[in-house]
Amino acid sequence: MSDELNHSDIRQAVARLCRDFDGEYWREKDRLKQYPGEFVQALTDGGYLSVLIPEAYGGAGMNLSAACAILEEIQRSGANGGACHAQMYTMGTLLRHGNNAQKDTYLPDIASGKLRLQAFGVTEPSSGTDTTRIRTKAVRDGDCYIVSGQKVFISRVEHSDLMLLLVRTTPRDEVDKPTRGMSVLLVDLREAIGNGLTVRPLETMLNHATTELFFDKLRVPVESLIGNEGEGFKYILDGMNAERILIAAECIGDARWFIEKASDYAREREVFGEAIGKNQGIQFPIARAYIQNEAAAAMVDKAAQLFDTGKPCGSQANMAKLLASEASWAAADMCLQTHGGYGFAVEYDIERKFRETRLYQVAPISTNLILSNVATHVLDLPKSF
Ligand SMILES: Cc1cc2nc3c(=O)[nH]c(=O)nc-3n(C[C@H](O)[C@H](O)[C@H](O)COP(=O)(O)OP(=O)(O)OC[C@H]3O[C@@H](n4cnc5c(N)ncnc54)[C@H](O)[C@@H]3O)c2cc1C
Repeated sequence: MSDELNHSDIRQAVARLCRDFDGEYWREKDRLKQYPGEFVQALTDGGYLSVLIPEAYGGAGMNLSAACAILEEIQRSGANGGACHAQMYTMGTLLRHGNNAQKDTYLPDIASGKLRLQAFGVTEPSSGTDTTRIRTKAVRDGDCYIVSGQKVFISRVEHSDLMLLLVRTTPRDEVDKPTRGMSVLLVDLREAIGNGLTVRPLETMLNHATTELFFDKLRVPVESLIGNEGEGFKYILDGMNAERILIAAECIGDARWFIEKASDYAREREVFGEAIGKNQGIQFPIARAYIQNEAAAAMVDKAAQLFDTGKPCGSQANMAKLLASEASWAAADMCLQTHGGYGFAVEYDIERKFRETRLYQVAPISTNLILSNVATHVLDLPKSF
């Protein structure tokens, strides 16, 4: 791959930036469950979180493949882009489906980092993956929607100014297809929190700033509706390809970090009078993880290229996400095993990255749902649900 296609300049610059945020920084954030605000600010100042926003709105107008390079390098450095990756792609729904007034109002400030749009509320306790059964509803009342309901696992709400929210505007049993009757609202969190929206932090096995949301007659102005009422599911689906490809790129970066860390250790650690890496029982799992990750990376590149040339890429985005999340998990397990007891010692960062990369087989979509999508949409097998 040429340097230009590989985005070598961007990769080097991101790697340089990440060097200022070492393992100690991330361990401290993880231990105290703190948001890595300084790191996010440095990425914002460097313009890395606005690369997908067109130049007309103050962004860099780059393609998805460049954004993948940024996130991959962040993860490869040992950092965690989960704190801010959504600032890159959540605005895509606004960009593609918002009206001109909404785009002119918000996109320049999102591009500069003055406004943070890095929260999106889809998942609910009772519906889970079955999104068409969401119960959070918005009922029109004059020039407002009144929103009531509950969401769960909604990340970065406490570190966002705006949130994209999926709600039901027409009950499921009153629409011809369950995917109809849902709408997307752009909620101004600065006004909503404390005025109908309650945010409750949800402690998880990784430091991901995730929360539960409770909506009690929250008033949202009708001007906050993105696109047409009732077509919100389509808009959310539309943004998922970019999200899956970008998260797959993060997994590739994670796997590279694990593989480099394991290789370095295997070369240096001496047991029985020689480097453990001399044993094929140590070498082969590292080589296998590398091969698995290179194959996954090829699928991520393919999906990103299809996306960037405007071609359909739904199944490739799904396959990239499945392969990359499995490759990063396999590399994590291998890296821990290579380090023996030291893999469990917090100061080596492996157990932290191990916990962080495990997420991606569940979120933003779980492996089973990808398998089901490929089985029914690509292979034309009968639907099971
Ligand atoms: C740290 C974290 C951050 C998150 N951030 C966000 C966020 O910012 N915004 C947001 O909207 N959501 C977010 N999520 C939610 C995430 O997208 C969901 O957890 C995920 O989509 C799975 O939904 P669920 O947890 O309800 O699992 P469920 O839908 O309850 O599924 C449970 C298990 O059953 C499997 N399953 C379900 N149905 C089938 C079937 N028919 N066939 C086979 N297997 C099936 C699933 O694959 C899964 O493994 C986050 C989650 C976590 C853990």
